[in-house]
Amino acid sequence: MTVYNFSAGPAVLPKEVLEQAREELLDWHGSGMSVMEMSHRGKQFMEIAARAEADLRELMKIPDNYKVLFLQGGASSQFAMVPANLLRGKTRADYICTGAWGKKAIAEGKRYCEVNIAASSQADGFNSIPEPSGWQLDADAAYLHYTPNETIGGVEFHWIPDAGAVPLVADMSSTILSRPVDVSRFGVIYAGAQKNIGPAGLSVVIVRDDLIGQPLDGQPVMFDYAVHADNGSMYNTPPTYGWYLAGLVFQWLKDLGGLEAISLVNHRKARLLYDSIDNSAFYANPVDANSRSWMNVPFTLADPGLDGTFLEEAGAAGLVSLKGHRSVGGMRASIYNAMPETGVQALVDFMADFERRRG
Ligand SMILES: *Cc1c(COP(=O)(O)O)cnc(C)c1O
Repeated sequence: MTVYNFSAGPAVLPKEVLEQAREELLDWHGSGMSVMEMSHRGKQFMEIAARAEADLRELMKIPDNYKVLFLQGGASSQFAMVPANLLRGKTRADYICTGAWGKKAIAEGKRYCEVNIAASSQADGFNSIPEPSGWQLDADAAYLHYTPNETIGGVEFHWIPDAGAVPLVADMSSTILSRPVDVSRFGVIYAGAQKNIGPAGLSVVIVRDDLIGQPLDGQPVMFDYAVHADNGSMYNTPPTYGWYLAGLVFQWLKDLGGLEAISLVNHRKARLLYDSIDNSAFYANPVDANSRSWMNVPFTLADPGLDGTFLEEAGAAGLVSLKGHRSVGGMRASIYNAMPETGVQALVDFMADFERRRG
């Protein structure tokens, strides 16, 4: 039976990538070794690492004045590394809060500086993006932080905020590589890999080079972007196997036609699922229609008493990891790049059938 994994993260990886990794698992390109066993400073791994970075730069059209870092510590470490590096003598930072991950970034930011919550959609249960006309931005903020896609609430910006001269910082963990993005609009883009890049344990940071090199006093050396940039992300042992797998995912995306091509697929998948929810009186998604995520689709059943049955029957049909986040309840279907259209079609078919039988 085909299993479609709708997990929010760690999440589904492209089957082709896993098959290639299996092929190369014991003997990478005639080296007689697994990538896992290679020295990160050896010629072979250096080649893998450089190729992955070059492919990511090509996919995202990353300008030359940006560093690309392959780090550990997850997106959660970036909640701290961003202020530790970007404050640069300033004492305040702006945050836009559209959900649970934004809240976590803010809580961590408060350990480093005065946080101004320039806008929040808390009042409507984090089901929308606040209108930019009402944002209380601070011209002297060290940076403006936001979460382009809230993985738990399923709320996504379909546009890039205008931060003026203030560096814009984006936690793109669950939306990076889902569509083209103008990197030059950002000071920092960061993402944990386990949603749309590769396995857990790797995080990717894209940072404009004029913003690094002035970390807060007393920071651990591992928290200094410049240290990682100056050492090609090999100041210490990087997550080599995750980096390699990320590289295979980048090649897979290039073979598919890049981010324009995958964005069309992602748009189709999201529309299929939202249409089936909207056209039913049994399923509901609470998010404002203009701010619905292409990647994470929460939905509820008209009768929450049927949640357990829904999950059980979906699982038996090969549709797994659909349980909503514990803070939200209901269901959540994460439909990242690696989720094929056939998987979303199978889910939609199952939902219609379940509604007929049980609704
Ligand atoms: C998953 C996620 C995180 C946390 O990532 P870790 O790698 O577990 O630290 C942060 N932000 C967003 C938007 C996420 O989806």
